[in-house]
Amino acid sequence: MIPYGRQTISQQDIDAVVDVLRSDFLTQGPQVPAFEKAVAAACGAAHALAMNSATSALHVACMALSVGPEDRVWTSPNTFLASANCARYCGADIDFVDIDPVTYNLCADQLARKLEAAEKTGTLPKVVIPVHFAGQPCDMAAIAALADRYGFAVIEDASHAIGATYGDSLVGDCRYSDITIFSFHPVKIVTTAEGGIATCRDPALAARMASLRSHGMTRDPALMIRESEGPWYYEQIELGYNYRLTELQAALGLSQMTQLQPWIERRHALADRYDGALADLPIVRPARPAGRRSALHLYPIQVGTGASINRRSLFDGLREAGIGVNVHYIPVHLQPYYRQFGFKPGDFPVAEAYYRRAISLPLYAALGEPEQDLVVNALRSLLT
Ligand SMILES: *Cc1c(COP(=O)(O)O)cnc(C)c1O
Repeated sequence: MIPYGRQTISQQDIDAVVDVLRSDFLTQGPQVPAFEKAVAAACGAAHALAMNSATSALHVACMALSVGPEDRVWTSPNTFLASANCARYCGADIDFVDIDPVTYNLCADQLARKLEAAEKTGTLPKVVIPVHFAGQPCDMAAIAALADRYGFAVIEDASHAIGATYGDSLVGDCRYSDITIFSFHPVKIVTTAEGGIATCRDPALAARMASLRSHGMTRDPALMIRESEGPWYYEQIELGYNYRLTELQAALGLSQMTQLQPWIERRHALADRYDGALADLPIVRPARPAGRRSALHLYPIQVGTGASINRRSLFDGLREAGIGVNVHYIPVHLQPYYRQFGFKPGDFPVAEAYYRRAISLPLYAALGEPEQDLVVNALRSLLT
């Protein structure tokens, strides 16, 4: 089976992890800060905080922005569950903003309309979480302008988008947001097995996130409430978690980061090949708007309205042909957990219509041309 995404692990990666196993520190050593530094350098971030998953980093980001039970958080329905769950961990209400039919990202125009209505009813969000779906950056300038006008904070869920650019801004530099989150799950661009990073510009926000990822404790005398009782002394100043990344994972991530741009280039070359080979088929290929460079985490197609086969039959046919296609995403508001809050089919029609026709084709750095040709030929024989 050719999977829709998978990690690439080199001998250099393996050696890096084994070296850590032989070293003094399996956790809380030098690898995590080195990995954080590499990610910060790659995306122009002032601060980077590694955690044991992007989900944890999203939770910490919401807590650091003081999201609580009285608050509202808005995100895209076309995303993985974690983009919404992070707000629920803090007790906040979640709502969604429908997507743009071309980029499949949270639509800035729909956001503007929803904010206008929310202002009238006193129900503005505290935080909006745009998701760079498939690695394609959202319209961040428009979202940041709305954030200024309506006073909400922005967390970019860039789980798909490490290495992407938006104009002359690198995703992760937080030029248009308060915090950006990356995921290092094995299907993402680079991996630490499980892992995530939060980047930000504000040093106070960075300190808050550092505290929250490690029990809410500090050894920094400047942050302590009481006088030190000796060299062993630390204080817990708030309720935090153990969301730390291990040294083994950070070493893997650090080694993987050396391949970030070559892997994204490879993804672009493969996507260009798909674009050419699939041009005459009754499918909608992913748009690549000018002025943004996608990290191309996914290559999502839609089965065209003129196709002689529906999404289900095409999906089943591809799986039978050994192509491990997948579907991204079941709209989050339609999950049973979220329906209990009153969400129902029809609430976000663009995301729902996209979902009904969507299939993600295999795309990862180690995908070879002969394997990609198998995918193209299987699609062609099922669609013509
Ligand atoms: C993968 C993913 C997450 C969660 O990442 P983990 O590192 O697995 O916790 C969150 N948001 C999006 C959009 C994702 O794709």
